[in-house]
Amino acid sequence: MGSLASHYPVVVIGAGPTGLTLANLLREYSVRLLLVERNLSTVQEPRAVSIDDESLRTLQSAGTIDAILPDVVAGYGSIYYTARRVPFATVEPTDTPYGYPRRNAFRQPKLEEQLRLALCGKPGSSTLFGWQLEEFTQTPAQVNLILRSATGERREVSCEYLVGCDGAGSTVRAGLNIVLTGTTYASRWLIVDLENNRNATKHTEVFCNRLRPCITLPGPHATRRYEFELLPGETDEDMLSPERVEGLLFQHGADPNARIHRKAVYRFHARVAPRWSLGRVLLAGDAAHLTPPFAGQGMNSGLRDAHNLAWKLAAVTNSIIGPRLLESYEQERHGHVWAMIHLALRMGRVMSPPSRLSAWLTQAGFRALGVLPPARDYITQMKYKPKPRFADGFMIADGRGARRTLVGRLLPQPVVRTEDGSHVLLDDAIGPRFALLVRTSDPERAFATLQHPVWELLRPVRIAVLPPDSRHAKLAHGIVVTECDEQFAAALGRDRNNVMLLRPDRYVAACFPLENARTAARSVETLLTDTWPDEALSPLLGGKALTQASPIELGRAHDLSPIHTEGDTHVRCRRQSIDTA
Ligand SMILES: Cc1cc2nc3c(=O)[nH]c(=O)nc-3n(C[C@H](O)[C@H](O)[C@H](O)COP(=O)(O)OP(=O)(O)OC[C@H]3O[C@@H](n4cnc5c(N)ncnc54)[C@H](O)[C@@H]3O)c2cc1C
Repeated sequence: MGSLASHYPVVVIGAGPTGLTLANLLREYSVRLLLVERNLSTVQEPRAVSIDDESLRTLQSAGTIDAILPDVVAGYGSIYYTARRVPFATVEPTDTPYGYPRRNAFRQPKLEEQLRLALCGKPGSSTLFGWQLEEFTQTPAQVNLILRSATGERREVSCEYLVGCDGAGSTVRAGLNIVLTGTTYASRWLIVDLENNRNATKHTEVFCNRLRPCITLPGPHATRRYEFELLPGETDEDMLSPERVEGLLFQHGADPNARIHRKAVYRFHARVAPRWSLGRVLLAGDAAHLTPPFAGQGMNSGLRDAHNLAWKLAAVTNSIIGPRLLESYEQERHGHVWAMIHLALRMGRVMSPPSRLSAWLTQAGFRALGVLPPARDYITQMKYKPKPRFADGFMIADGRGARRTLVGRLLPQPVVRTEDGSHVLLDDAIGPRFALLVRTSDPERAFATLQHPVWELLRPVRIAVLPPDSRHAKLAHGIVVTECDEQFAAALGRDRNNVMLLRPDRYVAACFPLENARTAARSVETLLTDTWPDEALSPLLGGKALTQASPIELGRAHDLSPIHTEGDTHVRCRRQSIDTA
């Protein structure tokens, strides 16, 4: 549990995958925090089963990937069948642009248990399991919380920022009076988890039969999930009866010797909060958005939120960047979350076509696409999945079009060779920091051009990436790695001597040619200055540039920064329940 203080830079409510990932990341960025969870343990019921490459990269940044990978089945595909069980489309991505296979099977209870264990091993984090947030008030300076244990014990704590990762029925969201908008996706699904399963295929199988849509997904350690849509008129009780479950499993080719671990009926939603923060209180994960699971993206979206938010909270609470940085959280994440929800809804329509004609048209369309190599690639390599990129936020646009620019994109993660000859993923070489990355064969000359006080404000790692065939080169006060193949160059373009400012979440904040280093430094200075409210900076700096401010002055500017809470909010959180099960 760690020793309990009365004030924290950050308090996180909810130890689901979003809250646990956020907490682990905050510790990697050296932020002291309290994590509060109303249950005595992490989740026991099987929920998410599909984790993507971006999430695995986030867990790498959170320092937890080595504990998690042994319980992940990496890299599987999907086969789509017609109602007559004829395959009409295959999704089997082979590339690993972010360092991991694109689709992977896991079990949510195991992941949460491992994230909790990892967090307990990190000094500086405190956890309260079996406690719930009862009430909070916020002022421009802090958030005050009242927590209550299952046995009725009461505790008061305060924090600079409160993050509600408390799921679909979020008490934090309700306390802010924010209501999710969107649709309630009306369908109900029977979920059956099998153990000791020896199914013939390691892939997901999708039976696109409007009379009974079904999907079956692989899992680690001989587990497998079956999901069946309920038809109008079918009751939950009826569908959960042993005869019905066994009949459905049999019809869909389940291993007859497998054991049923759990069965339950779920209802899914497609909803997003119209705003994700108010004053010093922010929402993340299911508290901010709900996604039907057909694209396997609900939890993955929550992990993206956690990565986007964690380094921003770290930079703001350490007075490295001004508090307006936090406005970019929703700005960068909102559109991407909607894109994922729309993808899930589209995939739901493929699985569950509304009529025989639409089933025929969709399936014929997929078959036709399979004939043309670029279109086939679009499906098999999952190019339809929304890209990890944003157009507005904490970044400096370089004037290139959305397809060509690297700014606002998640940087690919190649394997690189380090100075001692070992092969590591790029992020492991950089560490959990800002980075100035130059692909060059002359690191000393490149970084001599990058002398400007603005870079010191961000305390970046200086990293030079040498082309595969280059001779070894050294860089004082920096890291040199060598590309192992042409993949990185193919992803980034052939231009050498381009500098990238990488954020700790590995999105590209700026990209410029070395010869434009001075102009770029001025743009970065403006970007950073804009994160501070005028009222906080001007009395301290008196017209000086931000680069002339001392860390102490920035700390005072942070204390003076007014956070607009739209009147002090004083809310008593109601324990409300939204039906997700
Ligand atoms: C059947 C099913 C299949 C799914 N499949 C996938 C999939 O394959 N891939 C995928 O990415 N997603 C999938 N999802 C979605 C995924 O499970 C959720 O998106 C994910 O659990 C959300 O994580 P979270 O941490 O935001 O919220 P939650 O997991 O809901 O965690 C919230 C936590 O907050 C705690 N809490 C609530 N209120 C309080 C309070 N007042 N005080 C203290 N603690 C509180 C709760 O006890 C809970 O532990 C699936 C969901 C279901 C139901």
